[in-house]
Amino acid sequence: MGGNLFVLAGPSGVGKTTLEKRLFAEFPDLHYSVSATTRPPRRGEREGVDYFFVSPERFGEMRGQGELLEWAQFYGNSYGTPARPVEQAIRDGKDLLIDVEVEGVAQLRRRFGREAIYILIMPPSFAELKERLSGRGSEDQEALSARLERARMEIDRLKGLYEDHNKERALGHDYLVVNDDLERAFQELKAVIVATRAGLARQIGVLDRLLSQAG
Ligand code: ADP
Ligand code: 5GP
Repeated sequence: MGGNLFVLAGPSGVGKTTLEKRLFAEFPDLHYSVSATTRPPRRGEREGVDYFFVSPERFGEMRGQGELLEWAQFYGNSYGTPARPVEQAIRDGKDLLIDVEVEGVAQLRRRFGREAIYILIMPPSFAELKERLSGRGSEDQEALSARLERARMEIDRLKGLYEDHNKERALGHDYLVVNDDLERAFQELKAVIVATRAGLARQIGVLDRLLSQAG
């Protein structure tokens, strides 16, 4: 596998999109896996950039024809990772970032194992998560409560996984970034990307070249 596959997960409202926007500004050669979703676009979201906004029928078709690497339901909508761009990025040796909820992480873990890097973003507290989700103003009261309930469930599920050593190895993340202060969290996330890129196992070609030049 040439490029690095970064899987970013964390409860809705924790700040994943905000951190990702900064990452893409910092690393122009980091690519984003644009998911398909049946959720309607939020104000400012663009087709093919933030998501591929599809009908439930089209989503069902994508699933049926094996066009998705993984998929999950989230508050009444379906979300999935189109397989082709991920496979293409891997073939081209490009670095790719995939943003998924907890079920998606488990599915990607089964598929890519330790070939991918799994990063969990957590809020400093549940109260702060609530504040951010309501502050974003993108959901009505009902949707907001459902997202918070889901966040609570995701956090509980993660806790359960980490309490079980075997499952931790099967489904765990490699890194935890607490998004308290945005700048600090961003610097930490950036460090993960830089350190991963510097990893020797992923640069065997570079090592070969250096050694052949040496003599
Ligand atoms: P996600 O993509 O994980 O659902 P967003 O990136 O949309 O989350 O962030 C949710 C809200 O929280 C947004 O209004 C965003 O501006 C705000 N936010 C993100 N990170 C922080 C932070 N470190 N401190 C305070 N507010 C933040
Ligand atoms: P939102 O509606 O806030 O954009 O996303 C809701 C949740 O769906 C987030 O936790 C996000 O990480 C997750 N999500 C987005 N795209 C995908 C995807 O392709 N697959 C999975 N499993 N989850 C996704």
